[in-house]
Amino acid sequence: MNIKVNSCVHDADNISKNVNIKIKSHILKKQTRDWDCSDTIAYPPFINAHDHLIGNWFPKAGKNHPYKNVSTWVKEMRTSESFLERSKVWVNDGKFDLTQGTARLITSLGIYKNLFSGCAVVQDHISKQKDEYYDNNPIFILKKYTQCHSLSMGNWWGGKSAVEEYKDSEGKMPFVIHIGEGIDDVAKQCFKKLEEYDLLKPNTLLIHGITFNREQIKKCAENNTSICWCPVSNLFLIGRTIDIESCLEFGVNVVLGTDSTMSGSINFLYEIKFAKKKFPQIPTKEIFRMISTNARKALFLPDTYGKLEEETSNLLLLRMRDINPFENILATLMDDIELFIHNGIPVYGELKFLSDFEIDRTDYYFFSVSGSKKFVKGHPEKIIKEIDSILGYHKDFPFLPF
Ligand SMILES: [Zn+2]
Repeated sequence: MNIKVNSCVHDADNISKNVNIKIKSHILKKQTRDWDCSDTIAYPPFINAHDHLIGNWFPKAGKNHPYKNVSTWVKEMRTSESFLERSKVWVNDGKFDLTQGTARLITSLGIYKNLFSGCAVVQDHISKQKDEYYDNNPIFILKKYTQCHSLSMGNWWGGKSAVEEYKDSEGKMPFVIHIGEGIDDVAKQCFKKLEEYDLLKPNTLLIHGITFNREQIKKCAENNTSICWCPVSNLFLIGRTIDIESCLEFGVNVVLGTDSTMSGSINFLYEIKFAKKKFPQIPTKEIFRMISTNARKALFLPDTYGKLEEETSNLLLLRMRDINPFENILATLMDDIELFIHNGIPVYGELKFLSDFEIDRTDYYFFSVSGSKKFVKGHPEKIIKEIDSILGYHKDFPFLPF
């Protein structure tokens, strides 16, 4: 299967024109077509470095934002309409075993939120789940990591202390922790604790860091510690975000994350647009770096992610709305994804491409959007049907394109 594209973004610093991309897949038919997609641009699929799959309900929760500290939101969120509606579908019994009961319905919504916005990888920040949670999904939910919720609130959703969890990582996988999510003294004290506990490490992925001053950001760069930026969630909850310009100036490995839809953006495409709109001084190319090679480094992903070779089994093909490949991402909507292939398997895109693959059509859902026929791997429509039958009415989620 060869696809001729207008441009190919290999990585943030390497773009080539008029490229023929060769798809590697174990399910390709013997005879495949040569596709002329000169009105498209090819990218490596995106990487969402921070989400809470179980939190992907809608709309956002909490009325009294911005808060001085996220802990106030966590309390208020539990009485919000959104939380109460989600509780009709899945009751949080405090055990956080997301393979049990109806949890899977909501975490699957989260997976599709990421899939429909071109993410092949998502880091689901939650206590470590059973293997089955991470296996057999259309996109990759990062499996090898250790984590703590935060230094201020501890591991209330399960897991060991931050220091023990870090030790378990043996420096060989990401250790993920929320930090400095607020503007009060409690949030400001977190960086000191992080240093005290010796957690400022190359495999640490700090989420948010809103309180960090320039000196602290510099220390993150010096220690090769990654920082995840979630601008939508930060501005909604706290009213400000990390000093992103200093992060870039000092060369911190910055990655981008949506957080869940209960505090963050409706999907990754919106997160990228918002980041650029609110911080126009940041080159779009740098934002692309955050969602590709920087994320690959922070999440310890294999080379097949975050970079696009001309022969590939991972591809994100976007309709060309802007000739500049980076600006084109900003103009992209869910419907503009022409083809998304993950590990050689077509997971979302225009129906016509499926004719090149040996697939079981019952594994797919087909729908029309803006006049074009689309396919998606799996059955998100059944999830919605099940949720609707539990609720007794139809619930719309803005991150689903059908
Ligand atoms: Zn979070």
